[in-house]
Amino acid sequence: MKTALIDTHCHLDMEAFDKDREEVIKKAKGSDVQFIINAGSDREGNLKGLDLSDKYKNIYSAVGIHPHDAKTLDEKLFKEVKEWARLPKVVAVGEIGLDYHYLHSTKGVQIEAFRRQIALANNFGLPILVHSREAKKDTLRILQDSTVFQGI
Ligand SMILES: [Zn+2]
Repeated sequence: MKTALIDTHCHLDMEAFDKDREEVIKKAKGSDVQFIINAGSDREGNLKGLDLSDKYKNIYSAVGIHPHDAKTLDEKLFKEVKEWARLPKVVAVGEIGLDYHYLHSTKGVQIEAFRRQIALANNFGLPILVHSREAKKDTLRILQDSTVFQGI
């Protein structure tokens, strides 16, 4: 028996897969990738990812707002992320974190969004998928400050 694989971080919701999404999912299945976790980035991508996990038995979702889109995480969207986190096929909060390379959202806005989504994950007992680019120090400080690693 071959070892089954789990792709714990992919973005099948993205436009790049519009032409061959079904084919990619089929190929993954045929290559011993037993389960796929699609990581959300922005509102639209999270909704597409949730649709994929509804449609395919082997696809699960991580929901969250990527640091690039942290500036869109207002109260309304945060409430939506919270609602998504309750869904049965949601297995993580992500992709969340910090990206100081592109700075599509300011550092302060990214830090706030990261902290809020870590707290959300803690409330739901979900793991997080972390994106960190040129932001190692702040990423580690925030993770150490949060309850994620308490007791480790
Ligand atoms: Zn990613």
